[in-house]
Amino acid sequence: MEVEIVKKYVYGFHEGTTEMKSLLGGKGANLGEMTSIGLPVPSGFTVTTEACNQYYEEGGRLWEELKGEILAHLRNLEEKMGKKLGTSQNPLLVSVRSGSAVSMPGMMDTILNLGLNDISVEGLVSATNNPRFAYDSYRRFIQMFGDVVLEIPKYKFDSILEKKKAEKGIEEDTKLTAEDLQDIIEKYKKVVKKETGLDFPQDAKEQLFMSVEAVFKSWNNPRAKVYRRLNDIPDVLGTAVNIQSMVFGNMGDTSGTGVAFTRDPSTGENKLFGEFLMNAQGEDVVAGIRTPRPIIELKAKMPNAYDKFKEVAELLEAHYKDMQDIEFTIENQELYILQTRNGKRTALAAVNIAVDMYKEGKLSKEEAIMRVDPLQVEQLLHPTFKEKELAQAVVITKGLPASSGAATGKIYFTPEDVVNANNRGEKAILVRTETSPEDIEGMVASEGILTARGGMTSHAAVVARGMGKCCIAGAGDVRIDEQDKTFKVGGKLYKEGEYISLDGNQGVVYEGKIATEESQLTENFLELMKWADALRRLKIRTNADTPRDTKQAIEFGAEGIGLCRTEHMFFEESRIFVMRKMILSRREEERRNALAQLLPMQREDFVEIFRAMGDRPVTIRLLDPPLHEFLPHEEEDIKHLAEKMQVPYRQLLEVVEDLKEMNPMLGHRGCRLAVTYPEIYEMQVQAIIEAAIIVKEEDGIDVIPEIMIPLVGELKELQYNKDIVLRKAREVIEEQGVDLNYLIGTMIEVPRAAITADDIATEAEFFSFGTNDLTQMTFGYSRDDAGKFIKEYKEKNILEKDPFQRIDRKGVGKLMEIAVKLGKEARPDIKLGICGEHGGDPNSIEFCHILGLDYVSCSPYRVPVARLAAAQAAINNKGQSK
Ligand code: ADP
Ligand code: MG
Ligand code: MG
Repeated sequence: MEVEIVKKYVYGFHEGTTEMKSLLGGKGANLGEMTSIGLPVPSGFTVTTEACNQYYEEGGRLWEELKGEILAHLRNLEEKMGKKLGTSQNPLLVSVRSGSAVSMPGMMDTILNLGLNDISVEGLVSATNNPRFAYDSYRRFIQMFGDVVLEIPKYKFDSILEKKKAEKGIEEDTKLTAEDLQDIIEKYKKVVKKETGLDFPQDAKEQLFMSVEAVFKSWNNPRAKVYRRLNDIPDVLGTAVNIQSMVFGNMGDTSGTGVAFTRDPSTGENKLFGEFLMNAQGEDVVAGIRTPRPIIELKAKMPNAYDKFKEVAELLEAHYKDMQDIEFTIENQELYILQTRNGKRTALAAVNIAVDMYKEGKLSKEEAIMRVDPLQVEQLLHPTFKEKELAQAVVITKGLPASSGAATGKIYFTPEDVVNANNRGEKAILVRTETSPEDIEGMVASEGILTARGGMTSHAAVVARGMGKCCIAGAGDVRIDEQDKTFKVGGKLYKEGEYISLDGNQGVVYEGKIATEESQLTENFLELMKWADALRRLKIRTNADTPRDTKQAIEFGAEGIGLCRTEHMFFEESRIFVMRKMILSRREEERRNALAQLLPMQREDFVEIFRAMGDRPVTIRLLDPPLHEFLPHEEEDIKHLAEKMQVPYRQLLEVVEDLKEMNPMLGHRGCRLAVTYPEIYEMQVQAIIEAAIIVKEEDGIDVIPEIMIPLVGELKELQYNKDIVLRKAREVIEEQGVDLNYLIGTMIEVPRAAITADDIATEAEFFSFGTNDLTQMTFGYSRDDAGKFIKEYKEKNILEKDPFQRIDRKGVGKLMEIAVKLGKEARPDIKLGICGEHGGDPNSIEFCHILGLDYVSCSPYRVPVARLAAAQAAINNKGQSK
């Protein structure tokens, strides 16, 4: 017997809950949740994200069953409201709102006041006795529908509105009369006819279906795609569509609309923070067309509505256990809630809110830790302006401190110019009247953003905070001339390419460059880190090659060095010549002489690093890159070196050419070098062991160096190299007559090493996953060239994520899993770590936690990120990890 299961594509708000986010989108799920906890939410229903995906499956059309389901829900809504869509008596108006599972502010489309036509607008006039309001709503609807659904350029409508205002000598839309608006409506309709060849659709149901389609389509508009790529949001999620009965903030002076955060999203301070506009609809606030007023002023204007809102805000924050970003509208003194979501915030605010909410007894420590995005934490470690220089700097103007941080760069006026400047290696500040979602790539490429218009919830402000980018918004004195590529403040002119500096914490714009200094790690931050440390299982080490990096990393909480790359020590001015002499030696003796000169330099480095690390473990990797990398490649430079080395140019050129390889990354490098030239590793081992002995004797520090052999793929290869290390180490230790422990291990970065890890582990005392090379060799993507095509792979959904940034759990991760399992079988107490770039990526860190590694190692600035990510991994996988 066949059972036909009919899928449900539409849900009433009363059926939705927060847990249904992936099906109903964040907006729809929260509208549902708010409805069921009894908040004043205008009624409506949600068409699911699955319907959006099905829409694309159907080749981009609404199929009949879906239309039927929508109409059935519409009938329910009409009954409930006692109004009907598109009729001349008491017409129902709705909004059609996008909303995906992951919040993408302003990226997709929404249409308000749907259901108006030439007949129903008259119905609205008589139902409300307010012709001005009715015509204002109709002209808004034509404008939004024209822009979003009919894809008519916005300015065609805007210019009509602007012209009307100029004619009447008024600045604010609210001053337009009913007659003015009727005239505008006629002109708008002509624009529609001219642009589309068709009349503005009068059938309200047709309007509705066209709008639903437009919202589905907006999932794939260019700005939404860019946003998803930047924020790692999968393309397959799709958007839901919310159809909701309208409430009106544009009914006159007892109405208004606004947006507010339950806490300050820049600092985290626990007070209502937001803006509102009287006699306006929602989009007016976000668009920055009129400058909104601070929320506190609402208290004097409409005390009841304000008090009620405050109450709702507190309730929502307590309900969601997180700072909320709430949209509201007041219609004739009556408050309605239109949206809530967890508010975007700066790193500073995130940390302060998490710690404060714990102290207020609203969150547990674990919950507080989960509230902070580990990647965001890195912002806190970055510099602020030097006080001294700041005091002397010339102030240009002040705007709103929309997103904290300090930025210095050259002025550019368009996102394209910023991107180009960025490609040239310049630091650029985007200066713009206001930003829009199309500007997103320019915003990403900028050091900071300055806008002349818009408030704290304008597009620029919201997006910059999300990116952790410094932003000053609404600097009203700034007069921009985009044609001329200049801006003026007072009488003074600033040109493209000149330096300015932005202080996003204060909202002050300065002339010229201002030096920065290391940021202060706040007490709240340190406290949160302490909680994280207590909860995580993974140890956090750092990749550091110099004593300076080492000290920085320790300050940030590193518990050891997971990767000290010795080659970086040879690139220094004073050393590279000796290194080259070593490489270009034709006989072993010559080479040994040069190595003897390198020995004390290398030993000195290790002494300093060991001292800085105290008794923390240090993993040192023996020489890894192909030798060719140390040689000059330009004719000029080769000539110069030949002179200095007193050899004929031709002869040197020959050697340089000789060392060239077709595929250097798969060539003569890593431990393969020492198979040919054992004396190189001998020197390095001698330097390591001698340095450890010096530090032991002089400082009483018990260093246990971990000597790591790179690029091993075969047991005998490891054995050969291990013998070199053992021989030399024993020789030095015997000679000096001291006791010293050390470990010998290997990188797991060649796939063959991973799948023969039981063999390898018989000789290796530790494994460190070199996931950069392991990814390169597993995918067969050259690390240095993959950037070119990975972008395309992501756009075409072949790869969800760059595997060099996040461990590919399925492939590369599988190899790691095999290596861990086999390695432990052969040597149960084997030490396991990771030292690839992935060691600083929160998602990859979670994977390492699950695999049961002992530590992750990352760059110094990532150490706090990793500490937090490791704690989150432990919380997320409670009771599951080994
Ligand atoms: P976005 O995701 O861009 O914020 P929204 O769907 O939230 O888009 O809507 C844009 C604006 O319109 C918001 O300010 C919202 O509060 C307002 N709005 C949406 N639906 C309604 C409605 N039914 N009644 C009144 N205002 C609405
Ligand atoms: Mg919204
Ligand atoms: Mg490697």
